[in-house]
Amino acid sequence: MVDWDRQRSRLSDRLRERVADEDVLAAIASVPRHQFVPDDKRHDAYADRPLPIGSGQTISAPHMVAIMAEVLDLSPGDRVLEVGTGCGYHAAVTAELVGTENVYSVEYHASLADEARETLEATGYGDISVRVGDGKNGWPDHAPYDRTYLTCAAPDFPAPLVEQTREGGVLLAPIGDGQQRLIRAEKQADGTLDSEDHGGVRFVPLQ
Ligand code: SAH
Repeated sequence: MVDWDRQRSRLSDRLRERVADEDVLAAIASVPRHQFVPDDKRHDAYADRPLPIGSGQTISAPHMVAIMAEVLDLSPGDRVLEVGTGCGYHAAVTAELVGTENVYSVEYHASLADEARETLEATGYGDISVRVGDGKNGWPDHAPYDRTYLTCAAPDFPAPLVEQTREGGVLLAPIGDGQQRLIRAEKQADGTLDSEDHGGVRFVPLQ
């Protein structure tokens, strides 16, 4: 029998080299990544690498999910919009930090959204809200968000997402066509963004 819990806590320990936030490491140590990845990829679930999840999409490596959570600086009660649910893993990590009822996620592919909902329900994260749609338009019904992040690369922050993030709130996304940079942007009182570059990254592009 595979000891998933042990593998997961080892992964979390290894990530300590790159991530200082203990709450983020605890979240990684809590979410059963092996239940989110396709069956034939389970043996690699706790290796720190991206994995294919179907529909030509990829789940990010755990260190990237952890770094994004750390850079977003999530606190309990924060209302969060995620663009790109994929298999739901990243949303579950976010939920560990802000509470399941505060996570709203938009996924373009209906098949991925359906599977993600099932997995989230089965793993105890059923209160995360998942909607099928074009994430570029955000999810206005639950705005304003304290934090907004994209798990796919955009040429720039889509205007509706900036609009739906509160003043003083933070957006995070891989930005660029081809070469991408992870950009954290804080929304100012006048609606403009104060941006910070967190280095080169590689994500699937926004559809
Ligand atoms: N966070 C995911 C990783 C998803 S990969 C996880 O933990 O599994 C990026 C995801 O963004 C894919 O599922 C892709 O289908 C989705 N996506 C791409 N373009 C999108 C768009 N315009 N709106 C919403 N989701 C989109």
